[in-house]
Amino acid sequence: TFDIEDLFKNLYNSFLPRAREKGLELTADLSPNLPQLRGDQVRLSQVITNLIHNAIKFTDSGFVRFSVTELERTNNGIIKLEFAVSDTGIGISEDQQANVFEIFTQVRSLVKRQDGGTGLGLAISRELVRLFGGELMLASKLGEGSVFSFKIALPYSAIVKGPAKPEKMLTPTLNTTAKVLV
Ligand code: ATP
Ligand code: MG
Repeated sequence: TFDIEDLFKNLYNSFLPRAREKGLELTADLSPNLPQLRGDQVRLSQVITNLIHNAIKFTDSGFVRFSVTELERTNNGIIKLEFAVSDTGIGISEDQQANVFEIFTQVRSLVKRQDGGTGLGLAISRELVRLFGGELMLASKLGEGSVFSFKIALPYSAIVKGPAKPEKMLTPTLNTTAKVLV
């Protein structure tokens, strides 16, 4: 299991210096009371990292915001989440929007040499999101900004962080020891 709040805090702290350098406001938004999640934290983190990295790289004023929103929680232990990274950057024209997910594609006229990169980030991110059973979506307007988002379902654990104890059980599981005690 992993704690999505911790993951977001780490991402926030690691990108804050770069955002500050460019004078951008960096925001992380999370739905309240998210449970501990199960799944590939490393790959999830890689996708969000790629998207935040791009957002900061292609934004010169305004903000970069990343968020996770709870859409639905089923009682069989699955939570549906929407992740999004938005920016107020250069944006991507409608005719380029499909292309940016292709391997080695960069919107050349807009990428300065010093921006570097290989044009792999979004192609890899799209495949990783597919491994989670989702689809990486893009909404963007040239000159206004971009939003990359995806919805995925992950198993969650009933254990939540509590202020007093490190772990608190939401739904006590039946176990033989408890029965003996009763
Ligand atoms: P790499 O990620 O491999 O370092 P890259 O950032 O150029 O290189 P991708 O992340 O795949 O490659 O992005 C492809 C192209 O899509 C970018 O070169 C850029 O033209 C465009 N792009 C990606 N994200 C944004 C964004 N947030 N705003 C504007 N353009 C973007
Ligand atoms: Mg990139």
